[in-house]
Amino acid sequence: MIQWPRAVYLHVPFCLHHCGYCDFTLVARRDHLIPQWFDCLQRELEQHRRESGARLPVDSIFIGGGTPTHLSVLQLQQLAELIAGHFELQPGGEYSMEANPDGLEAEKLRVLYEAGVNRLSLGVQSFDDDVLQLLERTHRADAAAEVVCEAASILPAVSLDLMFGVPGQSEASWQRTLERAVSLPVVHVSTYGLTWEQGTPFFRRQRSGELQRVEEELERSQYLQAIQQLTGAGFEHYEVSNFARPGWQCRHNLVYWRAEEYLAFGPGAARYVGGVRSTSCRSVVKWLRSWSEGRACVEEEERCEPEQRAREAIMLGLRLRRGFDVAEFESRFGVTLQQLAGAALAQGLRRGQLELADGQLRLTETGLLLADSVTAEFL
Ligand code: SF4
Repeated sequence: MIQWPRAVYLHVPFCLHHCGYCDFTLVARRDHLIPQWFDCLQRELEQHRRESGARLPVDSIFIGGGTPTHLSVLQLQQLAELIAGHFELQPGGEYSMEANPDGLEAEKLRVLYEAGVNRLSLGVQSFDDDVLQLLERTHRADAAAEVVCEAASILPAVSLDLMFGVPGQSEASWQRTLERAVSLPVVHVSTYGLTWEQGTPFFRRQRSGELQRVEEELERSQYLQAIQQLTGAGFEHYEVSNFARPGWQCRHNLVYWRAEEYLAFGPGAARYVGGVRSTSCRSVVKWLRSWSEGRACVEEEERCEPEQRAREAIMLGLRLRRGFDVAEFESRFGVTLQQLAGAALAQGLRRGQLELADGQLRLTETGLLLADSVTAEFL
């Protein structure tokens, strides 16, 4: 019998505008597809309900996008009812929604609050209008700061996404963004370096020389700047890219970093259930067409063998600043770290990139700056 995951993700693939660097699953200026998306999402949820046979209890719900708050007030209510009909958020559970500052009126925030949403993740990216313009974001810094305050007056928790490594973004600009972020009523901050994804307009503009990648050294220094500024303001650096005030870590994302299982619905959504990882079609139109005919639309599916699961658990667990408990890991996967990845472990320890302390394996400060390559050694 399947032990159903207690975390669920839903993907809302609509945005006002398609930012040039973004390769997420979404469509912009195609709001006429929203009713069909609702219809298909309902079909997907109903199919799952037939398999599970029950309205499942969950500890976290995460509605991501796209821009979920691009939906109208009525559509947000409709979405909340649809979700409540299929999942029962347990007392103390986390209910997150991603949002953009544009068009996020108080009425929408109140609807979210009434629906039980208790955490808003706002894609602010920067408090510098020049940086926002370069990123093709449609909001401006002052307006975003106002939305943050309004959201925090209605919802229990507001998180900000901020971006560094943007062409033309100086250390002074990044510093001002960080300072403004910590001056606002937010309990969580995620910081990401701009990535240049193949197939995006930014990737082409970089290839043609129109946009210059930021030097690695500057990007590293901006990352260290974020750590210094945010921890100095009382945020705990709990994951490579994430910072939280005490008690406000993102519980949904902790499920991913602990290599636990999760459900997911909507186009492009990736799930991990019963040892099988699968991803729905990333083309919104293809996903809609398929579900409109009552057929699931899965692009990739793989059963994860125990060894692969254990290796991924190391890679993900090392993203947490406290690392992971080695004894717990060994009893969960029935293998010792030494047997599974002795060479990678020895290399990381020898190079001072990893440390073992109080039974936890974690990245050192040196390892943190090379997190992707150090953790990839375990795969
Ligand atoms: S608003 Fe966010 S999800 Fe939408 S296109 Fe821009 S970066 Fe991508």
